[in-house]
Amino acid sequence: MTFADDSKGMTSPAGKGIRTGAEYLAGLQDDREVWARGKRIKDVTAEPAFSRGAHTLASFLDRQHEQPWRDDVTYIDDNGLRCQLSFQIPGSAEEIARRGKAYYEWAKWSNGMFGRTPDYKNASVMAFTAAVDFLRKGVKGQADFAANMLAYYNYVRTNDRVLTHTLVNPTMSHQQAAQGLYSDKVALRVVKETDAGIIVNGARLLATLGPFADEIEVFPSTVLRASEDNIPFAFAFALPVATKGMKFICRDSYDHGKSHFDAPLSSRYEEMDAVVIFDNVLVPWERVFMYGQPELCNQAFGATNAVVHMAHQVAAGKLAKSEFMVGLMCAIARATGKGKDTQTRSLISEAMMMTESVRAFLFSAEAQAHLDQYGNFIPLRRPLDTSRNLFPKMYPRMVEILQLLGSSSLMATPCEADFSNELAGDVAQYFQVENLQSRDRVALFRLAHDVAVSGFGNRQALYERFFFGPPHLMLSAYFDLYNKDEMMQRVDDLLKD
Ligand SMILES: Cc1cc2nc3c(=O)[nH]c(=O)nc-3n(C[C@H](O)[C@H](O)[C@H](O)COP(=O)(O)OP(=O)(O)OC[C@H]3O[C@@H](n4cnc5c(N)ncnc54)[C@H](O)[C@@H]3O)c2cc1C
Repeated sequence: MTFADDSKGMTSPAGKGIRTGAEYLAGLQDDREVWARGKRIKDVTAEPAFSRGAHTLASFLDRQHEQPWRDDVTYIDDNGLRCQLSFQIPGSAEEIARRGKAYYEWAKWSNGMFGRTPDYKNASVMAFTAAVDFLRKGVKGQADFAANMLAYYNYVRTNDRVLTHTLVNPTMSHQQAAQGLYSDKVALRVVKETDAGIIVNGARLLATLGPFADEIEVFPSTVLRASEDNIPFAFAFALPVATKGMKFICRDSYDHGKSHFDAPLSSRYEEMDAVVIFDNVLVPWERVFMYGQPELCNQAFGATNAVVHMAHQVAAGKLAKSEFMVGLMCAIARATGKGKDTQTRSLISEAMMMTESVRAFLFSAEAQAHLDQYGNFIPLRRPLDTSRNLFPKMYPRMVEILQLLGSSSLMATPCEADFSNELAGDVAQYFQVENLQSRDRVALFRLAHDVAVSGFGNRQALYERFFFGPPHLMLSAYFDLYNKDEMMQRVDDLLKD
């Protein structure tokens, strides 16, 4: 199902469907204001420490055109355009399963280590479009938020735009945050309305992929309390990353220019995170999707089922990542000859069970896919909520298991150059293990180091803990949504007997 003829007020041209990597990279060479390590980056596709991440994503976009992946990760829309499958509005349980397979394929291309592939945000835009009636509740003057979303969906879908998003206001005071309120010193807020649109000022956390995205969605946090005070903070909009007045302040890169041998992950999958500053940025009305209604904003991700579709993408991706972690643990056990030790086997079994849990959650959600209130299909929410709340605990444990298995071998890591300099004889001699020659052993443990010890690896663990939101608030929401009544009734019944 598409909405190609349903949108009015479309200001941006329809595109030609999936792009090549080269087209994507050319699109990044614009006026975006990206700052890192004290300077403004002129071209993220050429800047050392940024360039390889951008090229990795470009190579993924190329795969959309290539078999055996193309038919799994794309679909042909009603107008004959080939688009990313994550944009397709699911009309059956089979299409839900197909989405899961596409998410999984995308994630396998980096073994889950390039976490923010475009399908994550595509799923969200698709969900808001499929549930566009929800946005009709947010009437504001002449603005037609539903039409804006339909137009935006068609724009990003047919132009294959890469999106990032930023949902969280920086916290100035914990007391204030705990009341669901924001500081107008730091949080992003509307400072003025004009005929052309709204003008916003302030900061947002945290745009993963920001420097490598075409567009940024600035959506409300789900902890926005319904309060008069929050009206200036209640909005949802999207802008091109290269919008005047928007600055991306990046963390230090973990791509230190090392070879793929020396840094197998950080040399490939640096996706970058950035705080976004808005300096009196004009958001045209046609790019606004919600405005001035904190309660509506607060409900948005749940009521549109965007959270369900995003959690579906996440679960599929985490399955690919967990499988890779198990593969790495088993490769280490094989190399060291410890595969028969009960200690090693029990540690790896723990990771295997986590992996199988994620697989079961995914299967359960897809097998129980159902019609939603808008007449589209969604996976069952609870298994996905369970997965996204457990994985932030599972992943750090998997990292810990890798550290326990790797021990000092994670430090016994001469670099690639040492295999061809005057140390070559020594490293060939002293770094071998029973089942692996030195070079292969060092390569394996350098990979484990990049997962479990390096800056890149630690950022991965931090990402898994936090990227979906504050863990305690997500768990609290899980508690609220859980159907506990019948269970408590059984307790009450027993006590009454
Ligand atoms: C590697 C990484 C990548 C990330 N990528 C993204 C991204 O792409 N897009 C994005 O939007 N975010 C991203 N995040 C941010 C993530 O959403 C936040 O880290 C997470 O929501 C926790 O928020 P915080 O860091 O501000 O923590 P905290 O300081 O704990 O604040 C949590 C939020 O909840 C509110 N809050 C705190 N306590 C309470 C309470 N008791 N009751 C009600 N509200 C409360 C605060 O106002 C604040 O907004 C990323 C984070 C990391 C670490």
